[in-house]
Amino acid sequence: MTSHNPVEGSVPRSNEEIAARVKAMEAILVEKGLISTDAIDYMSSVYEKEVGPQLGAKIVARAWVDPEFKQRLLADATSACKEMGVGGMQGEEMIVLENTDTVHNIVVCTLCSCYPWPVLGLPPNWYKYPAYRARATRDPRGVMAEFGYVPGPDVEIRIWDSSAELRYWVLPQQPAGTENFTEEQLAELVTRDSLIGVSVPPTPAGV
Ligand code: FE
Repeated sequence: MTSHNPVEGSVPRSNEEIAARVKAMEAILVEKGLISTDAIDYMSSVYEKEVGPQLGAKIVARAWVDPEFKQRLLADATSACKEMGVGGMQGEEMIVLENTDTVHNIVVCTLCSCYPWPVLGLPPNWYKYPAYRARATRDPRGVMAEFGYVPGPDVEIRIWDSSAELRYWVLPQQPAGTENFTEEQLAELVTRDSLIGVSVPPTPAGV
């Protein structure tokens, strides 16, 4: 019997190695009849082309222009998202955290990479890396600074640990000077990183 080092033996070191593992797993799942190649192609296409942070951005823009929708979003994110036709796998239970002048929220999955797929799409690689998962809790201000955001010293930073049961995402503050923007214009300001909480939406030039 060969020995198996759980760290050395199981962590892929390169993109090529990861791709090879994915191919191998896909082949086994297809061979065992657990999933069809059509289903895999469909899922990849949906998450590449249709589901992504633009959906979360639309929901945030709606919350910024419609205070009643915002209340529903903060009270029950999963059903408020459903009102806008957004929901599904990996987003069965979602909680939206509101940033204010005094509180800034940041989301991490310290255990693995739990993430609200229907609203944000698939997580960026850095969200899955051990460095982010460890540092987001130990040094959130340091992490945010690397993303270009420096909250004031009096702002309380709250860290939220997503899990397979409960996935968090952030309602950023509306940038100052955008009160006359349309909902569509507002949605364009909302970035993926601001929905995770590592940064905030940029203030558009000239406002
Ligand atoms: Fe996870």
